[in-house]
Amino acid sequence: MEIKVLENILGANEQIARKNRELLDKNKVFCINMMASPGAGKTSFVLQTIKALKGKLKIGVIEGDISSSIDAETVAKEGVPVVQINTGGECHLEAIQVQTALNSLPLADIDLLFIENVGNLVCPAEFNLGEHIKVIIASVPEGDDKPYKYPLMFNIMNVLVLNKTDLLPYVKFNVDNFVKTIKNINAGAEIFKVSCTTGDGISEWTKWLKSRIK
Ligand code: MG
Ligand code: ZN
Repeated sequence: MEIKVLENILGANEQIARKNRELLDKNKVFCINMMASPGAGKTSFVLQTIKALKGKLKIGVIEGDISSSIDAETVAKEGVPVVQINTGGECHLEAIQVQTALNSLPLADIDLLFIENVGNLVCPAEFNLGEHIKVIIASVPEGDDKPYKYPLMFNIMNVLVLNKTDLLPYVKFNVDNFVKTIKNINAGAEIFKVSCTTGDGISEWTKWLKSRIK
């Protein structure tokens, strides 16, 4: 019985996700669903990308948070359109919330839309939002065993960003093993190693991103 209910919820979500995707495609907006644990650096990564692509791509952001609007305020300072979704305690975004957010964004004036999902590596994996790619941000202090603990998330992603590489000298983290594990779980995933503190690796990411959008 419980399984049936979940299937219905996911089925309804999938239909709305498809509509979101149609709307994005119609407006030529490339959309990224960004997922990570709390504190991995999603907002910092959005900010670095905005700075690197200023004047090249028009960017918009949807900020999903359980209750605060701190991240949305930080991103809005960069002068890009931002919509905040407060999930009211829910630990993931659903397509219907994104549908509402899309309606209040100037889509015709946006080339690239980030959706910052709620910080959580479990259920956001089950809810498509209409995005073109799923990006996971992992960070060095979280340890190199994350892919084993959250196999679904690492299975469905298109891009993995390893953030906080500036901390590698201070933390036990085997990058080669980590990359090998990722390749075993998801051979097609693109992998970028960055530091949002120093800006290291951001240009490789934005170069790839621009090639995907054009
Ligand atoms: Mg954030
Ligand atoms: Zn959830």
